[in-house]
This record gives sequence, C-alpha cells and structure tokens, in this order.
Amino acid sequence: MKEKLEKEVSSVRETLTKKLSEIQDKRSILRAPELRALYDRISDLEPQDKAAFGQAVNALKNELTSLVNSDEQETLEPIDVTAPFGVNVKEANRHKLLSPSLGSIHPISSELKLISEIFLSMGFNVVESREIDDDFHMFSSLNFPEGHPARDDYDTFMLDQKDDAGRPLIAPAHTSTMQNRILHQYSNNLEKGMPIAAVIPGRVFRNEDLDARHEHTFYQVEGIYVSESVSIGNLIATLKTFLMSYFGKDSLEVKTQPFYFPFTEPSLEFSMSCPFCDNKGCRICSYSGWIELLGCGVIHPNVLKAANIDSARYSGYAWGMGVDRLIMMKKGVEDVRLFHSGRLEFLRQFSPGDSK
Ligand SMILES: [Zn+2]
Repeated sequence: MKEKLEKEVSSVRETLTKKLSEIQDKRSILRAPELRALYDRISDLEPQDKAAFGQAVNALKNELTSLVNSDEQETLEPIDVTAPFGVNVKEANRHKLLSPSLGSIHPISSELKLISEIFLSMGFNVVESREIDDDFHMFSSLNFPEGHPARDDYDTFMLDQKDDAGRPLIAPAHTSTMQNRILHQYSNNLEKGMPIAAVIPGRVFRNEDLDARHEHTFYQVEGIYVSESVSIGNLIATLKTFLMSYFGKDSLEVKTQPFYFPFTEPSLEFSMSCPFCDNKGCRICSYSGWIELLGCGVIHPNVLKAANIDSARYSGYAWGMGVDRLIMMKKGVEDVRLFHSGRLEFLRQFSPGDSK
C-alpha cells in the first residue's frame, strides 16, 4: 500500500483515539464521519490498493471497537442480581429492608424437621406427602371396601375434579394415602433383604367444626415398616425410642389399648406417660399422667396384597401421628388455630435463639 494511504489511516487513528478520550458516549466514535470517509475512499482507489487499504480501515475499526468495549467493561460494576435494589440507587433512596432477625421458622416447620431428623437417624427414609389424592389411595388400597362405614369417619373434602375412574379427587384426610406408594417404591428393598422403612410428614384436611383443639388443616407423620418377622414389639419400641428422643427423656412409659382401623390388624391406640410431670398428673395431661398420642398397628395383609407384597412372608407396622398436638404440648400452645393465624405476636415467640 502506498505510504500516502497508510498516513491517511494513521492520521484518522490519531484523531479518533484522542476524541475517544474526550467524549461521554464512547460508542458514537464507531459512527465518526472521519471513519466513514475512509470507507468511502475505497471505491475511488486504484484496484491494486483497494484490498490493502480496506483491510487497514477494518483493522482501525476493530481497534476502536475493542477500545470502546474495554472502556464499558471498566465502568460497569458487576451486578448482584439478587440485590433487592438497583446497584446505582443511592443509599438514602433505597427501600428499607426488614432485618432477618424479625423473622422466624414456623414452629410446625421446625418441629417437622426435628421429627424427620430423629427418624432419619433411626434408619427411616423421609418421603414427602401430597395434597391432592384419589379414592384408591385414600380408601381402597387401605382395605376400606366400597360402602365401608369407616369411610365416613374421615369427613373428607372432595374436589369437583374427577380421577380416571370418575370418582372425585380428594384432599387427603390422613397421610396413610402414601402407604401404597411407599410399598411400591421400596418393594425392591425386600428382595435385597432390607426393610421398607419410611416416615411421611404431610398436611391433611378434614371437614371439622373448628375450636381450640380442632382445625380443618393439620399435620401428621405417617410411619411404615415392612420386613420379615416384624412384631408389634418392634412397633412399640420404635415409637418409644422416637418419643424419648423428641421430648429429651431418658425414660418414658407407654401403654396401648385395642382400637379399630381397617388398614391395621390388630390396631392400637398408643399413649405415653406425660413427659411434663413424669406421670404424676398436670394440666397438660388433664391430671391423668397419660397422653393419648396416635393410632398404629400391624399392617393388614390386604394392604400388603394391594401393593403386590407377599403377606405370607412379610409383615409390617404403621402409625399415623398428629403433629400439631405434639407441638402444642411441647411449646405450650393453647389454641391450634394460632398455627395458621399468621399472627406476628404468636410467631415471634419462636424467633431464633428462643429455647422455648
Ligand atoms: Zn402431665
């Protein structure tokens, strides 16, 4: 390329580099008339000069572009996309943020976590429940035949939507709706000589008349254990071990009395000695020394059969434990409706650092 042409390019380079340091809108340099004039020159050149001149002008444009880009990178601070205000908003104009210390984990959430951890340490899996289910899982798979009167005991909420069999979907009235799924999910365990062992914390719904002891929405922790040669003694020992750990007691007395559920045989009502007065009698145990806790029993063979488990070879136990009442006793909550009330003065009692 002729020297004259080289000089033309380097002169524009000098002019524009200087200009770039002076202007605010750096990117406008790429549209500078001096640069455009160089491009316009190409068509007037001798054929032998065109290619080399064109390349030199393109090189200049690239050089300016990278200067503009690097300048933008220098002036733009990295953005914290999680920040609740723009990074350039002055401190005085920013929204006031609430201190995290004003919040607290809901007592039901923190106790469900604690309960799950205790059962995990005892070798149980923890499986999440669900909040819409069907007639099969609520009743049929649990040995409630069609028209069984015990179906009415659950005051079950029905949905307008129907399942594939044309029956209304339901809001589960107990966490036992998960038993059939758990038995299927872990049935391979049995072939490997391992037990099926799971707890299922979940929210359940019943059409109850509301008062200080009854809510339409509450929590249960279901437990299910299946293996070879399981006895009712295993069930009682498991629950007793859990309760001693949960209430931080070295010893607890438990007692059972016969009950009826279609999905366990025998079925038991399970009580523990009051951990607050050590069986002496106090306000929490209504001065009886005992607290009636949950329903449990040996899994009915029909429930195992509904999950294709050989009920002649395997047996198991299950329980359904109400969580709200357990927490009410432990935390001294007198009205179950407070849990869903959203009242700050109630929730703040459980803020971090509160050992209550
Ligand atoms: Zn007591």
